[in-house]
Amino acid sequence: MAQHIFDYAIIGSGLTGLCIATALSRETNNIALIDSADVPGGVNRKINFPTGVINNGLRCIPDSILAEKGIRFLENLIERTVQSKISEEAPITYESGNFKTFLGFGDNPPAFYEELNYFTANKKIELDIQPHDWTEILFEKFTGNFMPRSYVTKFHQEGNVVTHITINGSKTIYAHNFIFTGNVKDLALLLPEEALSVRARSKLSKNIYWTSISLDICHSKNLTDSTAIHVLNGTTQDDIGPCIGRFLPAQEVDGVLQQSSQWLTFIESESTEDSEAIGLSLKKMKRQIKRAYPEALDHIKIERIFISPIISGNGDLKVSGNLSLPSLQNLWIASPTMNDSKNLVGSLLQSEMILSALGFKLEQSTEHAEYLDQTTLEPSL
Ligand SMILES: Cc1cc2nc3c(=O)[nH]c(=O)nc-3n(C[C@H](O)[C@H](O)[C@H](O)COP(=O)(O)OP(=O)(O)OC[C@H]3O[C@@H](n4cnc5c(N)ncnc54)[C@H](O)[C@@H]3O)c2cc1C
Repeated sequence: MAQHIFDYAIIGSGLTGLCIATALSRETNNIALIDSADVPGGVNRKINFPTGVINNGLRCIPDSILAEKGIRFLENLIERTVQSKISEEAPITYESGNFKTFLGFGDNPPAFYEELNYFTANKKIELDIQPHDWTEILFEKFTGNFMPRSYVTKFHQEGNVVTHITINGSKTIYAHNFIFTGNVKDLALLLPEEALSVRARSKLSKNIYWTSISLDICHSKNLTDSTAIHVLNGTTQDDIGPCIGRFLPAQEVDGVLQQSSQWLTFIESESTEDSEAIGLSLKKMKRQIKRAYPEALDHIKIERIFISPIISGNGDLKVSGNLSLPSLQNLWIASPTMNDSKNLVGSLLQSEMILSALGFKLEQSTEHAEYLDQTTLEPSL
């Protein structure tokens, strides 16, 4: 029997994979969207909490021209308005028994300074639709073939193109074009020996990655009306460093006000499997939260821990002018760590760039264009 050949095989159904897959769906249904997970959405899948659906960990987007560009791309793709306004609120910290404006990490910044610093911008994009909704709406609009529980274990090369990939060590998927949205570091294992130079492999192994530790808590009462980002330090400077977090608006559940909060810190990626290091980090986070809000951990309704091996870092891999790998002309690397913006914005911008490299132009639907014309957004500086 002749082997089916997909037009596109997209590895990863997180925000990046879904943006690309959904856009390409406007052109063809012959797309394989492949993910090792059971469900689409990647790290931006929805989480059900007693106070309602929440993001999978803390999410915020500092305002910038590039961030707004990324949001416009998304709005065009999902045909909905995502951004409501730009808000301005300084982050706060807890010191000597009081909350104060957070003025920076001073002379002793944590090793994961860049990751935390991202969250401390005063100006943020306020979202009407949250990242967990983005992935859900994108997936609804995707018309190709979703393949869950499918772990890509190898790319196969003939000449300067990828011909097929192996899934779960046995199944084969053929496609004309391959788009990889997973961890760039994994390419050192997934690609054939000849596809990456020794130098490229060595560069990949030297990239710096962090593991994020997220702690989401549903508190049994309303603790604060503050919507500010909190930067919480321990009483002593230690290896664990500060954590960052925010309270969500309180919600009435069974006639009682409950409030959720989301906290985040980082550990070195080498410690991802080290349960002792993770446990210690969580203990310190809780201590920091309790110091600022002594009742925060009393009678909590639920707590949720989420460890994500890589949140950021620098996917330093040389690609050709059309963003494919120089040695494999039909393999595009779409991971947001390849984009200068990284994070959610990097995901959106990298998707947009890959689509444009594939020669795909996203036409704005007339209905959405008319809607946007009527919507006035506060401009950013
Ligand atoms: C806890 C946390 C908080 C964050 N907070 C913010 C924030 O506030 N602001 C911000 O801008 N950004 C934030 N980010 C970063 C942002 O969410 C991510 O950069 C972005 O969502 C990544 O989307 P993605 O689709 O590229 O990756 P992912 O969501 O990780 O999706 C990749 C998918 O690829 C699949 N995959 C990988 N390798 C393979 C393989 N070999 N075979 C099959 N499937 C594979 C995975 O299963 C996964 O589903 C946060 C991230 C985390 C984890």
